[in-house]
Amino acid sequence: MAAQLLLQHVKTPSGVCADILVDAGRIVRIAPDLPPSLADTRLDAEGHMAAPGFVNAHIHPAQTFVGGPWVDYDYADTVPGRAKAEAEYLAKHGRMNSLRNCYVQFREAIRRGTTHVRGHIDVGVFGLAELEDAARAREAFRDVLDIEYVAMPSNGILNMKTDPEQTIAAALRAGASSIGGADPCDRDRDPVRSVELTLRLAAEHGAKVDLHLHEFGSMGLFSLDLLFKKIREYDLRDRVTISHAWCLANLPDTRYQPIAEAFQELGIGIITHAPGHVPFPSLKQARRWQVRYGVGTDNMRNLWGPYGMNDMRERVMLLAYLSDFRRREDLELAYDAGTYGSASVLGLPDYGLSEGCWADMVVFPVENRACALLEGPMPRFVIKRGVLVARDGELTDAVPPCPE
Ligand SMILES: [Zn+2]
Repeated sequence: MAAQLLLQHVKTPSGVCADILVDAGRIVRIAPDLPPSLADTRLDAEGHMAAPGFVNAHIHPAQTFVGGPWVDYDYADTVPGRAKAEAEYLAKHGRMNSLRNCYVQFREAIRRGTTHVRGHIDVGVFGLAELEDAARAREAFRDVLDIEYVAMPSNGILNMKTDPEQTIAAALRAGASSIGGADPCDRDRDPVRSVELTLRLAAEHGAKVDLHLHEFGSMGLFSLDLLFKKIREYDLRDRVTISHAWCLANLPDTRYQPIAEAFQELGIGIITHAPGHVPFPSLKQARRWQVRYGVGTDNMRNLWGPYGMNDMRERVMLLAYLSDFRRREDLELAYDAGTYGSASVLGLPDYGLSEGCWADMVVFPVENRACALLEGPMPRFVIKRGVLVARDGELTDAVPPCPE
């Protein structure tokens, strides 16, 4: 019986030219000059580079103004200022059309080469309403994009408008797999209680944790220390992610080392969105100290930030740009942070461009990953579990259209 797909003449990340045979959603063979008759469906990459699909490890899919009218941003340019702007907007206009927003964001993600996303969904303002919409969108996209959700009290778990224990438990039943939150000191103003509650709930419900940590300097390091203690107490190894982690930026190795050792011991990964307005953790330092490091695009035109279209290629380019990477190996280090790095932080099984892995792949019409960052092409092919989901920047019919 013919296999599902033969992707011909790709240049793999190691620079080898080969064909990739896919069956039942997985890569079953990588070798040069495989017989075309092995599969009825064939795609010719004409010698261009292939890589595993991007893993966008941090987005806010329910919130975007893309496709709608322009909304002016008028707020203090700080995290509390943005939170206030959002609260005032939602109080005035009610909640956004989160179902439509998820569709818009997932379609952009796929079109630009992403095959897995982790979305943070607010559960602190409107209860489970946004998460229920997001779960419907995930069901619609189940064959073309892997989607996991973080139930996130955006203003802090202690500031939720509903009972946090009941709402978080209900959110986990409704399809979230992680508990989120933000800034135990700066937002919740009671870091011991905030960290204790978040991690206890994760332990009780078998959930993961992914916290926004925007706190700078000693404040952020203090929050991290509380987290280390509670991760040990509740045995949450390999289940905690720190998004942003700005407190790790610009630390000398002497101060970074003990933190990195705790990250290794406890299996903590960090996610950056390569912000332009604040220093962020160094990719090379994380690599040097074997700290798992992934990338997400974060907001897509909303009140938290105007930039970005869920484009991981662009985002890892910005990571490389802000890190002043110029050599090919450094550019490819940044590229790989958005693929293997994010997959490692999220703990994705069978990820990669190897036999036995899921056939989640991107082909860019360039020679290598450095060129893909620098020349800004749209993907030639985006393939999810062996199905072509985008071609030359256009989605295929496999991807659901936006609801009216
Ligand atoms: Zn975020």
